[in-house]
Amino acid sequence: MKIAVIAHNGKKAEMVSFLLGNKKFLEGVDLVSTGTTGTHVEKAGLEVHKFLSGPLGGDAQIAALAAEKKLDMVVFFRDPLDKHPHEPDVQMLMRICDVHNIPLATNQATAELLINGIVAEG
Ligand code: PGA
Repeated sequence: MKIAVIAHNGKKAEMVSFLLGNKKFLEGVDLVSTGTTGTHVEKAGLEVHKFLSGPLGGDAQIAALAAEKKLDMVVFFRDPLDKHPHEPDVQMLMRICDVHNIPLATNQATAELLINGIVAEG
């Protein structure tokens, strides 16, 4: 299973705590991320493949993976209280997830439900 994780700056701490809280689940998972999110994830002791930073095209790289059906889930903790220069890329990534029916969680509550659902399915 391959999961992409992305967090806007105001949500990076929440992403790290979400991932650490689901460490056991993540043992069999390939994590990929945008650049700065990935640096935070690595500092927390988890392995992750880092793409470019989001504003430099990282979201677009992750969208390309999604378009090729190489992702099983996208967890994107967006910060709705901040502006982002790469908003078009963010919209594009979410659109591609919808085009290809890839589970997309944009907040922690949804991400936890998705993981619980996968665990329950076995
Ligand atoms: P970052 O990008 O992980 O490089 O900060 C995330 C984003 O803002 O899309």
